[in-house]
Amino acid sequence: MDNIENKKCYGLTMVITGNGKGKTTSAFGQALRAIGHGNKVCIIQFMKGRKYGENLAAEKYLNDLTVIQCGLDSFVSKENPDKEDIDLAQQGLKKAKDIIESNKYYMIILDEINVAVDFNLIAEQDIIDIIKNKPKNLNLILTGRYASEKIKDMADLVSEVCEVKHHFNAGIEGQEGIEY
Ligand code: ATP
Ligand code: MG
Repeated sequence: MDNIENKKCYGLTMVITGNGKGKTTSAFGQALRAIGHGNKVCIIQFMKGRKYGENLAAEKYLNDLTVIQCGLDSFVSKENPDKEDIDLAQQGLKKAKDIIESNKYYMIILDEINVAVDFNLIAEQDIIDIIKNKPKNLNLILTGRYASEKIKDMADLVSEVCEVKHHFNAGIEGQEGIEY
């Protein structure tokens, strides 16, 4: 794999947060755009252990996209998370740090990392350190609701996806190809 130091780019830290639908799918869209130009992207997903359509598509069609899941296929309790949820998130954090240090990717996306911090599975300070110490050229994307103020302050870009309306409230349940 090429070292990304050879590429001319301004590595950005981007946060996609808010209570509306479209954060993870937006991050995958950004990955697709980067991959189209011959770049390699790695997505590390926290608190997820289920193959969504995007995971299946990545395996089938996108050789330049690596997706690593660090979670279970079940809801995590905010008040009382299982030890396994904490362990998996911590393992994900370690993997993320190693992959960031490897400097092999043009873009790294930490999907749902903001939620993992909000649920105290991961310390906010760890993410602050990642942002501070990341390779200069790396584009880093942090997704998930409840992004902390400090993390938003440090980012170059913050987009908040705000729920104006969601079909869930009209009783329409999650559908293949839309929600998963
Ligand atoms: P997507 O993966 O579709 O881009 P997301 O990453 O913005 O969604 P999350 O907060 O990660 O949303 O929530 C995951 C799931 O919850 C998605 O399947 C999504 O459809 C659903 N969801 C997101 N926002 C809302 C909402 N405001 N009301 C109800 N369900 C929602
Ligand atoms: Mg999401």
